[in-house]
Amino acid sequence: MQENLIEHNWTSTSSSKEGERKLWENLWSTPVPEKVKIFAWRLANDGLATLQNRKRRNLEQNSTCRVCGSDEEGAFHAVVSCTKAKALREELRKEWALVPEKIITNSGPDWFICLLEKIDVDQRAQILLLFWRAWHLRNDVIHGNGTSFVVGSAKYLVSYLSSLLNQGIVEDGKGKQQISQSWTLQRSRWVKLNVDVAFQDSGEASLGGIIRDHNGDTILSMWCTLHHCASAEEVEALACREGVRLAAEWVRRPTILESDCSNVVAALRATTENRGRTSHIIKETKAAMQMLPVCEVKSVRRECNRVANELAQLAKRTVHSAVWRENAPACISELLLEDYKTLISR
Ligand SMILES: [Zn+2]
Repeated sequence: MQENLIEHNWTSTSSSKEGERKLWENLWSTPVPEKVKIFAWRLANDGLATLQNRKRRNLEQNSTCRVCGSDEEGAFHAVVSCTKAKALREELRKEWALVPEKIITNSGPDWFICLLEKIDVDQRAQILLLFWRAWHLRNDVIHGNGTSFVVGSAKYLVSYLSSLLNQGIVEDGKGKQQISQSWTLQRSRWVKLNVDVAFQDSGEASLGGIIRDHNGDTILSMWCTLHHCASAEEVEALACREGVRLAAEWVRRPTILESDCSNVVAALRATTENRGRTSHIIKETKAAMQMLPVCEVKSVRRECNRVANELAQLAKRTVHSAVWRENAPACISELLLEDYKTLISR
């Protein structure tokens, strides 16, 4: 019995250290301001001044939630299941492809850490901002004048996150800092696939794609011309499909797919079936993604996608299609070098 207890304590300490390291990595890599990360750290360690925590320290007699009055106010209740928190999430679902409700469950004291481990970096940014704002709404009811509204909060978060991602600005302790203004890949075993297209109203189109590793070295480059295309979006979807298929055939490493077409990115990330005109291509792309160990899909700013764009232009100029392994055509060597320079200067 005694031995069991000791062993149990030992394993739980060691796993919690490992958990702490993972948590720290997960928070650190998320593109949100420092204050939001600190809030998330507290939430993960149940360190928020919830009524339950205050009651535990004899600072409060009653831990019933003062926003909804329907349950005890622990951390999960405050940021997930309370009425205002729920309303904020619902409102945000109109704008964001938030993680499904079934993933946000109270699985125990580590619920938040478990949640963070299940989702990718973009979803983490959304969840962190969402919970941070839900806690703000709760504080506003309890300590403030209760004038913060759910719809206003949702609008605020949507524009906040898009300014963080699009302008690449994150506030840190020293003020404002620029992030991700250039092509970059910070995960060593991964590769990044960038695709882009050129489309003319006549239906003539071309696509380009490049796969690079974290050193900026080219693993594969491709360019292709197409005829009778219906829309730029269709060509973007085709570029994603061809790029992912080539990655699955020749590279087979965890892959980040980047496109500057936000509709296609959203369709590829959605868990529900796509009903748009490009649905069949989206479906085929998703099937090809399954053949990779992991494939994350991300939006990229045009400026960070210049190499893929130049490959699409090359196909358009030369009316020629090709796939090159471990090599790239001369016309993009300068762009590759520029990306490489910013990569090593980081
Ligand atoms: Zn409540």
